[in-house]
Amino acid sequence: MLDLRGDPIELTAALVDIPSESRDEARLADEVEAALRAQTSGFEIVRSGNAVLARTRARRRMRVLLAGHLDTVPVADNLPSRREGGDLYGCGTADMKAGDAVFLHLAATVEAPVHDLTLVFYDCEEIDAAANGLGRIERELPDWLAADVAILGEPTGGYIEAGCQGTLRVVISATGTRAHSARAWLGDNAIHKLGAVLDRLASYRARTVDIDGCEYREGLSAVRIDGGVAGNVIPDAASVTVNFRFAPDRSVDAALQHVREVFDGLDVHIERTDAAAGALPGLSQPAAKALVEAAGGRVRAKYGWTDVARFAALGVPAVNFGPGDPNLAHTRDERVPVANITAAVEMLRRYLSA
Ligand SMILES: [Zn+2]
Repeated sequence: MLDLRGDPIELTAALVDIPSESRDEARLADEVEAALRAQTSGFEIVRSGNAVLARTRARRRMRVLLAGHLDTVPVADNLPSRREGGDLYGCGTADMKAGDAVFLHLAATVEAPVHDLTLVFYDCEEIDAAANGLGRIERELPDWLAADVAILGEPTGGYIEAGCQGTLRVVISATGTRAHSARAWLGDNAIHKLGAVLDRLASYRARTVDIDGCEYREGLSAVRIDGGVAGNVIPDAASVTVNFRFAPDRSVDAALQHVREVFDGLDVHIERTDAAAGALPGLSQPAAKALVEAAGGRVRAKYGWTDVARFAALGVPAVNFGPGDPNLAHTRDERVPVANITAAVEMLRRYLSA
């Protein structure tokens, strides 16, 4: 059986040595459930597919939710785990069995916690969003996701990573009149009209916004260009695709409005093709604020989309915090510095018992 009370580094290795590619987490979920039932007290424990949930109901000051996915990307000849110097190598070490181990160890060892705890170990995070175990829990067991703050144990190298940027894509198209290029004056060149669009993009000054101590750098970029009919034809259609990565103080609608203003007055048509809202860091709320203090103020913005946004959509401030370097996730050389594991345990223990 997994030993939750022993060394969290060894617990990480034990979790890594139970392979758990997405959709194949049953064995690991069984082990986690059995260990939680045998080695913790005061938790209500339920199973949902290949997810395991546990919570205390002691009516303490606040409720802190610790969430970790149990699945990994496909193994790349990097199991079983091996220890080399100060690092533990293997598939899932950083993403995110070290985070899972930290949460499991704390559940079994925090003495006199001042907050109620909810633990969510879920399946299918590494594949398409429709399969994500957290989405299923949200549909089937929504009250299990209620909390004052949620901490996801994704690798962040010891930083609290909060919020995430939004993204919007638009196609900006120009139209004209086709003609033989030998008599160009009879036509109206659509590609030339995009010149003004590119000028606006080149001279655009993107904002950098500070929200709750996290710095978000926006970006407005052409990511694709289409146009042209033949080598002797004045083109009657051309378009440029623009991607706007925006800070979470703008909604998707406000972001679209902004993009329309940037290209205001040009003879072009703007059409939105896809968008995803960002998530505010929410660090000014008390439960999150105390967490930032426990981390010694090491906070930064998250670039890219994570399950943090799911909690933000539910109105729960959520952050990523876990051992390991996010850039090593999903690589053959995936590893976690073991000192990160101990440091994360210490930091969260302070937070949960202060
Ligand atoms: Zn992950």
